[in-house]
Amino acid sequence: MNSQHPKHQENRVTQQGTQGNHGIIEAMNRWSGIFSKLFLPSNIGSKATIKQMTDENAKVLSMGVYMGRRTAVSGANPYDGGTYEGHTMKDESTGTLWAYETKFPDGFEHVDVEKFFISLGHVFKCHQCSGHGKIRCQKCGGKVRWNDGGGAHVCDCGDGKQDCPECSGFGQMLKVLRVDTSYYFDEITETEYSGALPGSLIMVNSGNVIFRHISEFKKLVIAEALDGFEPDEFNRLKIDMQSELKREVAEKVAGQLVDPNILNNLIDDYCNKLPNPVTANKRLQEEVLPVRIKCEVTDVPVKAVKYEYKGKDYSLIVYGNDGQVWVDGNQPAEFTWKVATILVIVLGVLWFITR
Ligand SMILES: [Zn+2]
Ligand SMILES: [Zn+2]
Repeated sequence: MNSQHPKHQENRVTQQGTQGNHGIIEAMNRWSGIFSKLFLPSNIGSKATIKQMTDENAKVLSMGVYMGRRTAVSGANPYDGGTYEGHTMKDESTGTLWAYETKFPDGFEHVDVEKFFISLGHVFKCHQCSGHGKIRCQKCGGKVRWNDGGGAHVCDCGDGKQDCPECSGFGQMLKVLRVDTSYYFDEITETEYSGALPGSLIMVNSGNVIFRHISEFKKLVIAEALDGFEPDEFNRLKIDMQSELKREVAEKVAGQLVDPNILNNLIDDYCNKLPNPVTANKRLQEEVLPVRIKCEVTDVPVKAVKYEYKGKDYSLIVYGNDGQVWVDGNQPAEFTWKVATILVIVLGVLWFITR
């Protein structure tokens, strides 16, 4: 979404000759060197006179939370009757999936991590073998010895039975929760820019980060919040982080934005929609957990350029750290070496086929 705030906009206009515009000239030369731009003179940056250059830098504002997500489905594992070594649910009515082997990854990458079982402490007889641990051998159908046209066969099962695949031969099953864990970055972005360049071209990765704020939800507080805290505890935690972030925005970056309210609104909107894990989670089925928040402001260079070539005025926009060119309107067109190359090839082919 583009935001228009022309009354605050103070673009820096520089009017100069070709000196001092090195990056722009390079960008225009690269752009005009592309072969498919047949009629565009090569090295246009060096040949043209830059008459005006306006800084109309775009800001990309982003706000997001690195979320942990743990899901569980109930199932059963073969049980040998011994002591269960894994995790055991203490109390199904108050338990949380985050009470077990929780290691928060650093950074903001999407990762799929811990998979494990939690025993629910309930043992039952295997349905498939009725608790015997053995089922009929599937290879011989229980016959062990049989005769066909080719002769006598003896099955290596010995007694016509095989271990039950369901319970691995133990005859008993233990009720468990199968737990999956993943972490992902949930982010929203907004662009502050009022120029002609289409918003879709303004990419975070083509600019420079000028503000970054990261804060961690305190791990202990999170775990406690889930394990019997009131929902208000989490809300208080969230409000604290939100005001800390906005204080830092006011101190460090607000002065560089045309309208700091856009960023403040983005922060507020995001924080308001952030789920409260205490109330939103479906306990022991799907539980999300906010790990850390990140707020960034990226400055994407955008320069509106007016130039003259052979007595005529043209304009274009150079944007991004790598100097991409965007045009909306006429550009110089003439007979170029690229056209000449095409003509030579065409004439060559014509000569060849009409020979
Ligand atoms: Zn057999
Ligand atoms: Zn079984």
